[in-house]
Amino acid sequence: MKTFYLGFLELKYDENIYNDFNEYSEFKKDIDLLFENENIRLEKIPENPTQRISDVHYDFVLEYQSDKYKRFMDIMENLQLKDMILYRLDFKFTKKEVSQSPLLYMATHFDFYATNIKHPSKYGTKYEKVFICPKCGSVEFKQISKLYWNTTQMKKKLFLEIPDDRYTGGYAIIITEKLAKIFKKQQFTGYSLEPVIHVGNKNKEKKCFQMIINNVMPSFSQKMPYILYDEDCTECQEFGKIKFPPHYDKSKDFNLSLEKNVTLGRQPLLLVSQKVKELFDILRISPAYEPIVVIK
Ligand SMILES: [Zn+2]
Repeated sequence: MKTFYLGFLELKYDENIYNDFNEYSEFKKDIDLLFENENIRLEKIPENPTQRISDVHYDFVLEYQSDKYKRFMDIMENLQLKDMILYRLDFKFTKKEVSQSPLLYMATHFDFYATNIKHPSKYGTKYEKVFICPKCGSVEFKQISKLYWNTTQMKKKLFLEIPDDRYTGGYAIIITEKLAKIFKKQQFTGYSLEPVIHVGNKNKEKKCFQMIINNVMPSFSQKMPYILYDEDCTECQEFGKIKFPPHYDKSKDFNLSLEKNVTLGRQPLLLVSQKVKELFDILRISPAYEPIVVIK
């Protein structure tokens, strides 16, 4: 796995650290040169600033924690530009890492997959709000009734992950009866099933189950990298680690991470075996997958 730092440096004239516009323009040229001298490729060299359009942006990529990265960051620190950089991390896996990873992070909860799906809380499913952290006030929803839902929303889908709703209830995974039978035949491990109670026209009911994944993984490896952003809470520190691909060794077919993602609500990572992916490929259930890292 290679980790890349996708940086976005912004220069702003109105930051008050320049005496006049000319000084700002010269400073911009120095920064152009810096990227050139450090041999850091830019998406494009930004236009020189004008009085009207004075902001300047640099898009660049560095291998995270490489010598080049460290040198560049030291320079940014000295120039007091470090806070002007926005970034995200990007992970690139080799084909071998993807095919040999015993476990894959399966992301089905992206919006494209559950578009226009109404949350079970709208059909009478009851949730209890559990307060997790007194410091940042984060809450989690615990489902305390059977799952009530209009099953016609499955349409042609065999597998559906309804994302956590920040205000009304937790996430739910729903599978059709057909898929439940296939899972049983495959002798998949790590989950149990509860019937979904259909709300709506009885003739249009699609027999479904709520899939409850009960194999929760141990904590991420101690060796896993860690970054805390300003908005992260130091009391529930899992947030910082979840920005990296999970690092583990032992698992079942279906697993949940102990740590929770907070992008949508508070939801653990769904981790599946290669066997699950192979089956889903055949059934044309196509979420996004990312390998995990096995510490040797
Ligand atoms: Zn917290």
